[in-house]
Amino acid sequence: MKGNIFEIQHFSVNDGPGIRTTVFFKGCQLHCLWCHNPESIDDKPGEFAFVASKCVGCGSCFRICPEGCHSIADGKHIIDREKCTFCGKCVKMCSGSALSIYGDKGMTVEEVMSEVSKDRSYYDESGGGITLSGGEPMMQSGFVRELAEAACAVGISVAIETNACCKYSYLDDVKNYIDLFLVDWKASDPAKHKEYTGMSNEIIYENLCRLNDSGKKVLLRCPIIPGYNDNEDHFRKIAEITKRLDKSIGAELLPYHSMGVGKIEKFGLEDRVRYIVAKPPAKETVEEWVRKCRSYGGRMVNE
Ligand code: SF4
Ligand code: SF4
Repeated sequence: MKGNIFEIQHFSVNDGPGIRTTVFFKGCQLHCLWCHNPESIDDKPGEFAFVASKCVGCGSCFRICPEGCHSIADGKHIIDREKCTFCGKCVKMCSGSALSIYGDKGMTVEEVMSEVSKDRSYYDESGGGITLSGGEPMMQSGFVRELAEAACAVGISVAIETNACCKYSYLDDVKNYIDLFLVDWKASDPAKHKEYTGMSNEIIYENLCRLNDSGKKVLLRCPIIPGYNDNEDHFRKIAEITKRLDKSIGAELLPYHSMGVGKIEKFGLEDRVRYIVAKPPAKETVEEWVRKCRSYGGRMVNE
């Protein structure tokens, strides 16, 4: 079995405890307007990236591409990604390191384990491990199970970042190999959740409760997007959920950042992904959000 793996990122410190290696899965059933990894929404293997600011205009890519993917229109470098076969010829020739290919080949469990095992000593020293992220790892739950089982077998701790928007049986099947579930809660009103992400949140809430009641460690992660979900009802509901999830670590508010917007151009996603550009909130605003959640009885892990 091969996993549709987009990238493996070493030395992550924001994806669970300690130093971690994050394995990014490609494909997601949600389409969050503020996604910070929009290049991993589409489940087709492989994405071609172009960073215009690095291009030195050497022209090698135009000359070498057998498919004619590179052209100029109105003085702008255009890439026809539909025609790209990921042969890599232009990437090798690029003088400015402006071109790259991500995740076009798929990886076996053994290949992923070989890569993540390089950081073993860091996990042991810091209490870290691997984090399965994406995209949505549970879209490839069979691969998640095999990979998590292999990591467990050699004593590597596994966390998963998931939207939990799937049948509970899939989560139940992998949960014995997962030490920590990092589950997103994006909007509390089901209709708003559907508007912002493409799907309702009812199944997510049910799965959160079932994971909690089975004794699994859960951290609720709540991206807060100014103008979309920075409202009292949402903060009150987040607090309520932390009370219902009595075995969970609590909830963490994640203030909006605009990292995903730059990726729209880099990966040529303008016509494939819906996205918004919001204003990142000030530190004081985030502190006020956290204070509100706490005032409603929420167990918040934010400082
Ligand atoms: S990877 Fe190959 S097919 Fe794709 S743009 Fe480059 S040269 Fe063309
Ligand atoms: S090969 Fe690289 S540096 Fe040269 S024109 Fe193409 S993108 Fe720009």
